[in-house]
Amino acid sequence: MKTNFTISPELLQAPEEKRQKIVTNLAKALQIEPLDLHEHETPHLLLKSNFFEDPHSEHLMEPIGRLERQLYELIDVKGLYKALMRFFGIPKKFWQIEKSWIPMRKSKWDNVKTLDGSPLTEEQWNRLNNLFNEYLDVPREQIEDLIVKANMAAREYGEQDMGERDKVSKIKTLPTSIQSAVKVKDISPQHANMLQYAVDHAVINLTHTTEVGKHLVLNVLLDSLSRTGGVTATKAQRMEHTRSLAHRLFQEMGLADTAEGGKLGFLNRDWLRVAITEANDAAANGYLMGLSPGELVAGIAHPDACSHCTKLIAGRIYKLTADPPESMDSAEEGSAKYKALVKRWQTELWIGKSNYGLRLSPRKREGGKLVPRKPHELAKATIPLHPWCRCRWMRINPEVAYVNGSGEITYLTPGKPLPDAYKRWVQREPLVQEKLRQMRQDKALMFLKPDELNFLKAA
Ligand SMILES: [Zn+2]
Ligand SMILES: [Zn+2]
Repeated sequence: MKTNFTISPELLQAPEEKRQKIVTNLAKALQIEPLDLHEHETPHLLLKSNFFEDPHSEHLMEPIGRLERQLYELIDVKGLYKALMRFFGIPKKFWQIEKSWIPMRKSKWDNVKTLDGSPLTEEQWNRLNNLFNEYLDVPREQIEDLIVKANMAAREYGEQDMGERDKVSKIKTLPTSIQSAVKVKDISPQHANMLQYAVDHAVINLTHTTEVGKHLVLNVLLDSLSRTGGVTATKAQRMEHTRSLAHRLFQEMGLADTAEGGKLGFLNRDWLRVAITEANDAAANGYLMGLSPGELVAGIAHPDACSHCTKLIAGRIYKLTADPPESMDSAEEGSAKYKALVKRWQTELWIGKSNYGLRLSPRKREGGKLVPRKPHELAKATIPLHPWCRCRWMRINPEVAYVNGSGEITYLTPGKPLPDAYKRWVQREPLVQEKLRQMRQDKALMFLKPDELNFLKAA
């Protein structure tokens, strides 16, 4: 059975809190796990005037934001829309959603060319197809260029945070392909493999989006053409029809205003989502590549992050490993090996860690009931954690910084006694205790005196 819900525009524009409540109630009535609305929507910060400016990151997100934008701009949805408008001879005054509904004086209608109600010829279909190719096909090299740059830029930030580099390169000087990264930046074969995977991933997802977008636009066109009323339609009917085609394309292609509560339509929105997700995937891995195995990272999330990012990423500490664990279902459930594997997945990060096959929602439906998911079925910390996720990792050296009670990274003041908040943080974080003990034992402490860590005994 397929159920179709029609959602009223008022509901769609209701405040998020209200919408989430409705979704939760609906889910209860239908006995399904409620969706976290946030996870499926554009994060609020992205809906402000500029998608790619991130007021909360002084650091890595700025160049990555620029690369996201360049990926996003690889397809020209607006150009395609205008080309379609021209193709159908739709006058400019109808090209915008708001304007297309402004009533016009009758005399003005007379000069407007409208769809004449006849089906498209083969030649016209061919021309349409060429338009799609012209505006929606992105060469692989362009995607590769930007993914490689996002990855290499982030790696340099990682190296900078490790103290191995004092300046990061300008984006435009970074390699434009995996091949040149191998040559110029001397990246390892593993790194090249990972990059190949990231580029393929981005190409597949971006291509999929444009394919789905093409179908969507074609369906709107077909549907619209089938309703023209044929060649017998009156001029007024054809005019109305022409207007409605412009209106629907504008909506479906997602060209409406993107300000708060904006209406990013399918094509534009999906393309944007994929561009952001893929750029951040390449960047998150690149950043970890710039660090040494054994380093600790803290997760940085936006203040309006969803519940999953808040739980798994914001202020959480993970250890980078060069030796990824096996998958969690390789051990018998409940066995010691299983517990050890789950623990590693819960506490460690590695290049290319992915939640493939794992789920964010804590419960699943089984035999008509909601049951909690098993540890090996639940998603673990990775960035991006979900589409649109723009969280990031930041190396944390527990000799110089800690995560305070509000989840913010705070720096210690040299020469001052260690604050209680620092000590509390260390007591809360087994990975930090392990790291500090190791550093003390290896005589690798550079800023703290071994004595200062005596409070560790109580841990
Ligand atoms: Zn999130
Ligand atoms: Zn996130």
